[in-house]
Amino acid sequence: MLAPPRSGCYAAALAAVAFSRPRPRCSSLFQHRSLAFSSRASLCFNLSSGMEHFSTKGSTDKNKGLVEQLKQYGMIKSAKVAEVMQTVDRGLFVPEGSPAYVDSPMPIGYNATISAPHMHATCLELLEEHLQPGMRALDVGSGTGYLTACFAIMVGLQGRAVGVEHIPELVASSINSIKRSAASSILNEGSLSVHAADGRKGWPELAPYDAIHVGAASPDIPRALLEQLKPGGRMVIPVGNFFQDLKVVDKNDDGSVRVHSEASVRFVPLTSRAAQLQDY
Ligand code: SAH
Repeated sequence: MLAPPRSGCYAAALAAVAFSRPRPRCSSLFQHRSLAFSSRASLCFNLSSGMEHFSTKGSTDKNKGLVEQLKQYGMIKSAKVAEVMQTVDRGLFVPEGSPAYVDSPMPIGYNATISAPHMHATCLELLEEHLQPGMRALDVGSGTGYLTACFAIMVGLQGRAVGVEHIPELVASSINSIKRSAASSILNEGSLSVHAADGRKGWPELAPYDAIHVGAASPDIPRALLEQLKPGGRMVIPVGNFFQDLKVVDKNDDGSVRVHSEASVRFVPLTSRAAQLQDY
């Protein structure tokens, strides 16, 4: 396990050193190579010193406070996204002892991170129209399972939410977290599943998907994922190596695609398990 960040603002700190475009200022030094934040990061608040790991009234209130802060800072505009982020307690998905209600990515082991809350919000907002009840969602690099749980609640029991993560230990812990979360009944009913596999190949068994989210940065847009995107569907994927853009890929009804960049971001690489774990 890598050392936890020293402040709730470390993503913004990296943003300040890693990119030439103007960034929010923050004082702490960044020490971890894996993260997930956007250039829109402007929050340096910390609602809790952490340690909460079960959904108690206190943790629910802190999670609600986090969502309120994200709304106030303009990072959440959609009522539906606010609602799902309030419903899924982030505290259940971060490792014990990590500050859960801070707008920062957190190490989750295996050279991976849980994305910052504002990044989860951004991806949920970008995909919202493609996460209607009954729709199908694929979460590649599902990590903690936080977003997979949000997707499952949005698409509901008639829909399907699928997480694909290549570290089996993370798959197991994400399923445990989901079981303690508001998405547990959807997991039990079989409309949510998480699989240990190479997400670059997608999950063809349940394709095509209305929404595909990729939680790790790919050098390009994997063909298998494009093929598994439904016409009319949308994929959100960080593309690049050191410099990355969060790309939004819309597939037209005739199968052609439109791609635009939403933000400069920094995610862990979408890679092989061996490459990810080589210095772990
Ligand atoms: N959205 C997740 C992000 C986790 S970090 C969250 O907030 O929890 C990105 C994840 O992608 C890591 O867990 C990493 O193990 C996984 N990953 C990287 N390459 C992968 C691949 N080829 N197939 C599946 N998962 C991959």
